[in-house]
Parts: sequence; C-alpha cells; structure tokens
Amino acid sequence: MAEEEVAAVVGELRGSFRSGRTRAAEWRAAQLRGIVRMVEEREGDISDALHSDLAKPRMESYLHEISLAKAACTFALKGLKNWMKPEKMLIMLTFINDVQVPAALTTFPSTAQIVSEPLGVVLVISAWNYPFLLSIDPVIGAIAAGNAVVLKPSEIAPATSALFAKLLPEYVDSSCIKVVEGGVPETTALLEQKWDKIFYTGSGNVGRIVMAAAAKHLTPVALELGGKCPAIVDSNTDLHVTMKRLAVGKWGCNNGQACIAPDYVITTKSFAPELVDSLKRVLKRFYGEDPLQSEDLSRIVNSNHFRRLTNLIEDKKVAQKIVYGGQTDEKQLKIAPTVLLDVPLDTTLMAEEIFGPLLPIVTVDKIEDSIQFINSRTKPLAAYLFTKDKKLQEEFVSNVPAGGMLVNDVALHLANPHLPFGGVGDSGIGSYHGKFSFDCFTHKKAVLIRGFGGEATARYPPYTIEKQKI
Ligand code: NAD
Repeated sequence: MAEEEVAAVVGELRGSFRSGRTRAAEWRAAQLRGIVRMVEEREGDISDALHSDLAKPRMESYLHEISLAKAACTFALKGLKNWMKPEKMLIMLTFINDVQVPAALTTFPSTAQIVSEPLGVVLVISAWNYPFLLSIDPVIGAIAAGNAVVLKPSEIAPATSALFAKLLPEYVDSSCIKVVEGGVPETTALLEQKWDKIFYTGSGNVGRIVMAAAAKHLTPVALELGGKCPAIVDSNTDLHVTMKRLAVGKWGCNNGQACIAPDYVITTKSFAPELVDSLKRVLKRFYGEDPLQSEDLSRIVNSNHFRRLTNLIEDKKVAQKIVYGGQTDEKQLKIAPTVLLDVPLDTTLMAEEIFGPLLPIVTVDKIEDSIQFINSRTKPLAAYLFTKDKKLQEEFVSNVPAGGMLVNDVALHLANPHLPFGGVGDSGIGSYHGKFSFDCFTHKKAVLIRGFGGEATARYPPYTIEKQKI
C-alpha cells in the first residue's frame, strides 16, 4: 500500500472517529459481538490459517489463540458498561488540628470525576507467533475503549494476515476498523502517519523504530516485547509435575516460539542430573522417539528463523552441551525439543532471546544464587519458579523485577484477565488484557465541576491585608 493510500485510510478513520460513532456503548458492544461471532463461525478457517503459517497443532490453536480471543471479547462485553462509567471521586476527609476538613479544600465545594476518553485513531502492529490472538486482543481493547483502529498483522504469518483482511470487514464496522496488510515498507508508511496510540508487539529492535517514529508526533506507545524468560527449578518441588508444566510451557507453546516460553532453566549443580532425567522421560512421552514426526509440535516459522536456530546449536561450544534432542529437518522446518546443560554464557544462545525449541539449563551452587543471576541481566517479560519453599517464593516475588511472574507453572498468568500483561525495561512498556486493555486505549480525563458558592476572597487580587478582611 502506497503512502497516499495509507494516508487516505487514516483520514477516513479520523473522519469516522470525529463523527462520534465509536464513542457509543452500543457501537462498541456491536463490534465486540461481531468479533465473538467471527471467532465462533470461522473457527475452522482460523485454525487452518494457523496450521498453514506454523503447523500449529489444532488443540494448541484452540487453547492458546481461539478460546483466549473469545474469552477476551466476552470479558470486555461484560465489563464495558462499568468500565465506561466516569469514576466519581469520594469527598476525602482529613484532619487538621483535630478538625475534619475536605482534603481538596481549595476546590470545595465541587465534584470530581475521571472520564475514560477514547484516544482517537490507533494503530496495532502485531507479531507472527500467535498471529491471531496477538492481533485481535489489542483490537478488542481499542474497540472497547471507543477508538477507530488499524490492524497491521505480521507478514511472516501470511495466511492469518490474509484471513484478517477478508474476515474483519464481514463482522465489524469497516469504516472504523481496518486491516492493512504488509511488511516493512507498509509498516514504515503507517508509522509516518500521526496516530493517537501505537500498540506494537514484536522484537525490541523494531520496538525502537516504532518508538522513534511515534516520538515525531508525540504519540504514546505500548510496546509488547520479548527477552529471555528464566525458570528456576528448586530441588524442593514435585519434579514430575514441574517437568510436565515446564515442557508444555516451552514446546507446547508454539515449539518455544513464544514470548513467555521459558528461555532457560536455572537449578543447582547437584539437582541438575535428576532434573534432566525427568525432563527426558516427559519429552519422550509427549513427543515420542522421533519428535520430528510429531503432529503435536509446531514447525519453525520460516527458513530464516530455522537457520538462526540451527546456527545457535551448531556453535561448537554449544553443540557439545546437548543432552537431549538436537535433530533438525530443514525441509519440514522442524527442530526437535533440545535440552542443553551448562552452555558457556558467552555464546549467542545464552546472550540473545532463543525463541525456539532449545532449552539450556544453567547451574548454580545454591538455588538462592539464581535470583542474582536473573538480576544481572535485562528484566524479563516473565519469570518462573518451581518450589514448595514458601520463603524462596517470597524472595522471588520481592526481588526479581519482571513483566509478570508465575510460581509453580508456566505461561498461565496471561490467561487471567484480572492481571495486567506486559513487560518492564527491555521487555516492554505498558500492559493490557481485561480492563487493562480498556485503560491502555483511553485517556483518563480529570473533570472537576464546581457550583457558584464557596467563594474564597483570598484567591482574588488585590492581595492586600484590607482585602482579606472584607
Ligand atoms: P518483528 O519485530 O520482526 O515483527 C513484528 C512486527 O513489526 C511485524 O508486524 C512486522 O511487519 C513489523 N516490522 C518488522 N520489521 C520492521 C521494520 N524494520 N520497521 C517497521 N516495522 C517492522 O517481531 P517478530 O519476529 O514478529 O516477533 C518476535 C519478537 O516478538 C520476540 O522478541 C518475542 O519475544 C516478541 N513477542 C512479544 C510478545 C508480547 O506479548 N510481549 C508476543 C509475541 C512476540
């Protein structure tokens, strides 16, 4: 799409927004109901597209994308009326010299409220790994908040991108909600425009490009980025359950191509052999003796990412540390679940986000040392801990900065709509899900309404002693 066409799309949406159509609760609810209908009626098409883009197992597509998208939409529909209500302020009382007075004395008498105002015309740029959910979820928030929106799905998941372009206009108001397909040139053209918010999901490198483009127009951004998510495994755990949850959170999430999949495990030197044995048993049970033939593992998204990942394990310093897996099939773009033990920290595998089916295990002397290890790196999007030790759980929650964290499981925190989902530091800016999505796409407008009483003479000039006595 050429720059003029992009400008025309934005111009049309700005006109629609200015007409006030998107502000009405009925309009918002109708669009959300349209999305629920789309998910219900076209579930098969969505699942086919995800299979075409990633060979994503159908159960995974249903559990991790389709059902979560529907749940997000239903949650927004239920919450919408309450979320939209202005928040009326309580008249706070405080004590001065034992006398109760209204806290906001300077504005007394008045009523105060916070109005959640739609931002305007917003842009959602999505990633390829959960190409359905990561596109529709922020769009749901933008609509619930009363905005006009352009969705730019990832060109690296072309079937899902094309499906959005075809389906969305059939189910929602296309004068306010549009899909623009394309890669870098189209996204660059979109980023030239003035938006009222840009919501971006993807890598930190592109996140920097997005933020720089937004800065030109003073446009706020939400950046949902990635990083290396650690999983600490203490010896005081139910090892079998731990390994099942860890394995499904890594390989059962798009074969490791997930922003919240554990990037590496940390355990003690003494416990590592037992952990590795247990993990091997679980992996054999999940994916069989020849995991490259398993229908339950997604493929690697494309040959660039396949080569990026195989390069990581072909590094001599890394290859000799493989304790399980390592098989690859370039034709099918498949890489088997691969476990590595004590990979040198100066390798690319240990320095960059893996985003694939390779799981290195780092060993430390004492489990408490793992907290320091995590904190010596950039803040992760998610951090995990498996332990029955309450004290260690508390230390982990208090001392590890992360976008989100989960004790004794992996990834599930993202499915709770009462929790904000987002990163911190290098893993992102801003959060969404549930009411947080609504808040992400609204401005909290401060409104104060006064009557004509309560005149304080001191505020008016001339500021003379005599005047104060009048
Ligand atoms: P990416 O940055 O390559 O692409 C994401 C989007 O940016 C796409 O829509 C793409 O068209 C666009 N884009 C790519 N290059 C661009 C450029 N030069 N200029 C403008 N736009 C450009 O990211 P990806 O490979 O699609 O996703 C992988 C990364 O995303 C990982 O780091 C992962 O952790 C992260 N991620 C984060 C979340 C989250 O919710 N926090 C979810 C999924 C993925």
